[in-house]
Amino acid sequence: MTTIDSVVIGAGQSGLATARALRDAGLAPVVLEARDIPAGSWPSYYDSLTLFSPTRYGALPGLAFDGDPDRYPYRDEVVDYLLRYAATLDVDIRTGHRVAEVLPDGPQFAVRLADGQELAARTVVAASGGFGHPHRPALPGLGRFTGTVLHAAGYRGPGPYAGRRVVVVGAGNSAVQIGVELAEHARVTLATRAPIRFVSQRPLGRDLHFWLGVTGFDRAPLGLWLRRPPTAPVLDQGRYRAAVAAGRPDRRPMFTDLDGSTVTWADGTTEQVDVILLATGYRPDVGFLAPLGALDHAGRPRHRGGLSTTHPGLGYVGLEWQRSASSATLRGVGRDARHLVRRLRAAAQVRPVVRAG
Ligand SMILES: Cc1cc2nc3c(=O)[nH]c(=O)nc-3n(C[C@H](O)[C@H](O)[C@H](O)COP(=O)(O)OP(=O)(O)OC[C@H]3O[C@@H](n4cnc5c(N)ncnc54)[C@H](O)[C@@H]3O)c2cc1C
Repeated sequence: MTTIDSVVIGAGQSGLATARALRDAGLAPVVLEARDIPAGSWPSYYDSLTLFSPTRYGALPGLAFDGDPDRYPYRDEVVDYLLRYAATLDVDIRTGHRVAEVLPDGPQFAVRLADGQELAARTVVAASGGFGHPHRPALPGLGRFTGTVLHAAGYRGPGPYAGRRVVVVGAGNSAVQIGVELAEHARVTLATRAPIRFVSQRPLGRDLHFWLGVTGFDRAPLGLWLRRPPTAPVLDQGRYRAAVAAGRPDRRPMFTDLDGSTVTWADGTTEQVDVILLATGYRPDVGFLAPLGALDHAGRPRHRGGLSTTHPGLGYVGLEWQRSASSATLRGVGRDARHLVRRLRAAAQVRPVVRAG
């Protein structure tokens, strides 16, 4: 069996940026992607999604977005961009290939696919995102709730919820964007543990990402000097703050109980609700690394700056706060991928081999 320089798991922005960094280092990666196109989880995000960063700050290394660099692109523009990026890479990207598990094979790795195939790899990069692993916190009474419970991962648009009573749990960008959109069609409350923190999208007339760049906050290690906030602030041009201030949706402290179709609020009042929508984030979707012993007791990667602390030839790209506040964003993955490839090569002593042809 031929041994591959590097198997990259996932063909979203993280996997594609990693493939590019590996190619630039003279290595020949194989990218394995479970879906049938190399565009990450973007095709599954909700229909109205507009990015929080202008395309000027969202491009991966080596390819700019088309059009006005100051516009905030729609979801499908990102899908198109990633497909175009993948096509420019000259990398072996195998779609429809789901990795089931990664196992040790001496100092190397055996990568086992769901269809039974096995690949041998000198290094492995998990760039599998979190969309396949939605976080569902243990909320009081959730198991006794008889209405609809869904995670934001399953939300596409307001249609199915028109006229219903909906409680959205969460205080981040997705919670507020979905809550405001739904409130035009349904009666909606945002249930949050703490007040929502809004941040101006354009302080002093420039997009926030301009300021993140010039202050250095967006790059490692400066962002890590500050404590990671429990929930990312909500970027807003004024629309979301105004909607919440007007009570569409209203914001309340987290409920204290659910039972049947009844919610009990912190002030003791009760009412009937139809839907609990959990906009409670995601966790790294890396279960395929469990057989390797690369994860901690909670199933999270053991790593430092993206390099595994359990296996020298294993790395990660796209984890939240992997190296900085921008690690899990379009603008941050290229930087982290280059950094990881340098460290991975040194740690696993992988050198480009001169190939015939
Ligand atoms: C609703 C929402 C809005 C966001 N908005 C922005 C934004 O405006 N700007 C921004 O910069 N970031 C944004 N993000 C954050 C981030 O940029 C995206 O989540 C992005 O999709 C992450 O890219 P990724 O490549 O790390 O992971 P993903 O896009 O999730 O890609 C991972 C890929 O790995 C594949 N995979 C997983 N497991 C396996 C397996 N076992 N075998 C093979 N393949 C596998 C998946 O099929 C998927 O294609 C947003 C995130 C969400 C959820």
